[in-house]
Amino acid sequence: MTEISRDDLAARFATRAVHAGKIADPLAGAVMTPIYQTSTYVQDGLGRHKGYEYARTRNPTREALERNVAALEGGRHGFAFASGLAAVDGVLKLLAAGDHVVSGDNVYGGTHRQMTLIWSRMGLEFSFVDASDTRNVAAAVTAKTKMIYAETPTNPMMRLCDLAAAGEVARKAGALFVVDNTFATPYFQRPLELGADIVLHSTTKYLNGHSDMVGGMLVTNSGALAERLGFIQNASGAVPGPFDCWLAVRGTKTLALRMRQHDANARRIAEWLTKHPKVERVYYPGLPSHPQHELACRQMKGFGGMISVELGSLERAKRLAERTRIFALAESLGGVESLIGHPASMTHASVPAEMRRAMGLTDSLVRLSVGIEDVDDLIADLEQALAAA
Ligand SMILES: *Cc1c(COP(=O)(O)O)cnc(C)c1O
Repeated sequence: MTEISRDDLAARFATRAVHAGKIADPLAGAVMTPIYQTSTYVQDGLGRHKGYEYARTRNPTREALERNVAALEGGRHGFAFASGLAAVDGVLKLLAAGDHVVSGDNVYGGTHRQMTLIWSRMGLEFSFVDASDTRNVAAAVTAKTKMIYAETPTNPMMRLCDLAAAGEVARKAGALFVVDNTFATPYFQRPLELGADIVLHSTTKYLNGHSDMVGGMLVTNSGALAERLGFIQNASGAVPGPFDCWLAVRGTKTLALRMRQHDANARRIAEWLTKHPKVERVYYPGLPSHPQHELACRQMKGFGGMISVELGSLERAKRLAERTRIFALAESLGGVESLIGHPASMTHASVPAEMRRAMGLTDSLVRLSVGIEDVDDLIADLEQALAAA
């Protein structure tokens, strides 16, 4: 558990990204956070040490990452986990058997799988609702509801949840409001400022940004929640190693620059796709045709790099996904390089077919993670692949 300084919270975003949470290196004055590749720390005497006893509990490189991401989200306490799903696991451990959770139905496939196949067995109850309409969230609340869990924009349908309104429902219900902010990142959206109690990240994606580690993160402003999350992080033990923390904290330094480019490229590509004769529908919150574009403009400062495309037939989707040359066919998202994926058979294969259909996730849907390459090269790549489709 790490608290961040007032100075870190006072600086503007890009400055925080580079500097917040840095640790002073008394030995050599290293400007960059050192990798404390150690499992334990020498103690001066019985009960006398520098605050570091064992690396599952505390590690300076991990703390630098925790403070940095907390500062970016405008929160006071950050907790790093070994993966995004370990962070989901950590946050759900705030609950007890018999508690009820209202979750968006279009959450990350692995989150849905963990909730339904692991936590349901342990006595948690879940209602999955289309959280793009806050009335569905409110209607699912029961006397046992202890948590509302949302993602916005969702993966891959790019539906939005009105964070201020859903936060209000949570407050009235006396439930925690948890928001997975992986897609938007704190550069474009800060859920804590809109009423969330806890923000969750897969740092694997945009925060690290270079597709070279797997990690997760929880951030909160509440000292009481921080106490409990710190206990869970240490007691359950799903912590990331110092090298992965170092990669992630190196990644966040360029978050502002990268997100601006992801957003600029994706806006151009989304507009171009809407005019392509082989494309039936484009899902991108930055398009005026997106049914929640007005909400996107209100609660986000930009729209990010994720686009989903409806091609009308599985055959066409398959040909597009297999013929791009710059867009690599791969799971994951949020790296500097462009990726293309087929949610129904890849990232969302663990979601039951009838649930996929109900949310509009067809077999002919393709998802793009638009990277920071030259946008004209990316458009030319999609053009040649669509010509073959
Ligand atoms: C990838 C992802 C996760 C899971 O994170 P891992 O690091 O893969 O465990 C959770 N939520 C969203 C939105 C994701 O994209």
